[in-house]
Amino acid sequence: MARLDGKVALVTGAGSGIGRAMAERLSSEGAAVMCADINEEGAQHTAALVSEHGGRAAAMQLDVSAEEQVKAALQRTVDELGGIDAVLNNAGIGGANGWDTTIAVNLSGVYWGLLHGAQLLAERGGGSIVNTASIAGLVGLVATQQRPSLAEPLTPGAGAYVAAKHGVVGLTRQFAITYARYGVRVNAISPGYIETPMTAGIRDVEGAQAFLESLHPLGRLGKPEEIAAAAAFLVSDDASFITGIALPVDGGYTAR
Ligand code: NAP
Repeated sequence: MARLDGKVALVTGAGSGIGRAMAERLSSEGAAVMCADINEEGAQHTAALVSEHGGRAAAMQLDVSAEEQVKAALQRTVDELGGIDAVLNNAGIGGANGWDTTIAVNLSGVYWGLLHGAQLLAERGGGSIVNTASIAGLVGLVATQQRPSLAEPLTPGAGAYVAAKHGVVGLTRQFAITYARYGVRVNAISPGYIETPMTAGIRDVEGAQAFLESLHPLGRLGKPEEIAAAAAFLVSDDASFITGIALPVDGGYTAR
């Protein structure tokens, strides 16, 4: 019997990168997966990949910054896949999108998933929530490029991203404590730099790839599958006594 047999999971941001890898990994371990993304085509593509490999999946469009849409996605998962045991609040954007948008997606988006997801799981007898935070939820970020002058404020994007991800770690701890007695475990993963479309623009700048690699003691960037492996563990009963953590999966980035 596979580790996640009979479980149903909602994965946000499942149309690309880490979320797609999560959906594929959870399915490979037996879970049925609702693939939700603001990019509906991407979500459908992920669901098709899961189906091709013999898994059970559905897809839907979801903007995690809209509370009512998050509530509806949770209910739709139950209606279409026959239950819900895990919620993976993974959707996110880079800080270059500006303060309001970054906070709305990366922090409020996770909050709506926790607020309504933890409640639903508790009502149904328990479950597991995994939030995708970041090393930026644990430490500040080092700039990959020197700014030419002080004509404008430095790294406003990094500030918004770091604030949102630190908030995700805080929410993870608070919801873990609040919902522990109802059998709902709440954890976060803090990835280092991962090779996904989100980081493509950063990695493409001359010299940036080598610089980023040098920040990770393992000497390379991570792969989406390495984050998905940690997520599957945290969802599974192998993590039955783990709640309220922000697990670095970062090649040693935060150990330095
Ligand atoms: P990605 O490849 O860009 O995937 C993110 C997905 O989320 C995209 O399909 C994106 O759609 C979608 N999305 C954006 N806004 C959304 C919204 N409002 N509602 C629902 N879906 C939305 O990025 P990724 O690297 O896999 O990132 C996944 C998560 O990991 C994010 O929370 C990110 O902050 C976190 N993370 C990434 C890294 C890294 O190095 N890659 C490191 C640490 C943490 P569009 O493409 O249409 O925008």
